[in-house]
Amino acid sequence: MNFKSSMIRCSRHLTSRNYMARRGWQRPSQLRFRTLATATTKPRAQFTSDCVKFEWPESNDKVQRTNLPNLWLRDNCRCNSCVNQDTMQRNFNTFDDIPIDVQPSRITEIQTGLEIEWSRDHHKSFYPWDFLEFYLYNSERDEEPIEIEYFGAQGPQDTQSDWPPSLKYDDFSTDETKSVGRLTDLIRRRGFAFVTEVPFDTAEPTQKLLEKIAFIRQTHYGGFYDFIPDLSLADTAYTNLALGAHTDTTYFTDPAGLQAFHLLSHHDPTSKNNPEKSLGGKSLLVDGFHAAKILKEEDSKSFAILTETNLPWHASGNKGITISPDKPYPVLELKPGTDKMHRVRWNNDDRGVLPLGKTSLTQWYDAARQWHRILKRESLEYWFQLEPGKVLIFDNWRVLHGRSAFTGVRRICGGYINRDDFISRWRNTNYPRDEILNRVIG
Ligand SMILES: [Zn+2]
Repeated sequence: MNFKSSMIRCSRHLTSRNYMARRGWQRPSQLRFRTLATATTKPRAQFTSDCVKFEWPESNDKVQRTNLPNLWLRDNCRCNSCVNQDTMQRNFNTFDDIPIDVQPSRITEIQTGLEIEWSRDHHKSFYPWDFLEFYLYNSERDEEPIEIEYFGAQGPQDTQSDWPPSLKYDDFSTDETKSVGRLTDLIRRRGFAFVTEVPFDTAEPTQKLLEKIAFIRQTHYGGFYDFIPDLSLADTAYTNLALGAHTDTTYFTDPAGLQAFHLLSHHDPTSKNNPEKSLGGKSLLVDGFHAAKILKEEDSKSFAILTETNLPWHASGNKGITISPDKPYPVLELKPGTDKMHRVRWNNDDRGVLPLGKTSLTQWYDAARQWHRILKRESLEYWFQLEPGKVLIFDNWRVLHGRSAFTGVRRICGGYINRDDFISRWRNTNYPRDEILNRVIG
């Protein structure tokens, strides 16, 4: 047990940077790397019947705890036999194999970490210093930091950023991984992105493009779609009517993560003599996180009501199908334990009946009216014309979409992608695997 050596451990840090450099990537500016291990001097470790205690040679006021429980350590053994190296799954049954009062019989510090031999089965566990120090300094892993860039009618508040966020279809054939990384990162930070110069003779290139992110989600409307308006599908989205800014699939427990649109053609067979005539059908995006921030600043009570009041949502327009989430959900959801926005769920048409009793109805209707008014502010409405060749992909948990009424016949294709698949693809195209595993496993 010798703790004399003092060493800055930042190999993971270097690994990540080298990895990014090797791939020719620029780490997105908002994803500043957090050093997982902040200590510069190894602590001294000794065990008791309950825990392993750590002691630093000099005072260390940044540390959150000075001991780690024995059972927790044994359960989280990092050795190659306890963690299946193919699947990264736990390779033993905690509740059959590990006694609740499991105790070390010996602790050995080595350069790279701590070895613990356990008294009953003599299993030798290994814990890298990075792992131990992370949990001495923190209680849990955080998700990847994301710096949200709000947008409004005129684009981002920070005028340095390019507007609108977009990349070219050809980039995907040059370097698919890098382009998917850029695309998903743009959507993550800025809420949406366009992919331009996409072939539009058929819908197939659009479908292939979406499948580069992840598989397309099946719903009761189908999977990837390619349609002209047809009311038999029993949803207002399939008409020529104007649609206010809304979230799609509020009626799923897990609403669609991404949504994509590509206008393949738009013509009016009745106005051949006047090809310049506007056919309407402008598209609308509203940054729901931006709107929520404004609501909180202007009327924090209304913001709180919309985060606290759970409502029913439904899709009942097709015979034999009535979809509703696993439980009522509020309009605005926060990340647990924070005041950060997690998800917007807003479609007044799909909203069920507000429950009586728990909620002050007047307060909820007032709050929802405030929210609705903010969403309709000109300063927040980003209007643009969809056109053949330009695919729009947006974060349906953050950005609300709508359109103005149109005439003529539009052929639109698109689809949904699940949130978890989108985030996984974003992670895996923007971070090295060792860092991802640290974050998602712990
Ligand atoms: Zn082990």
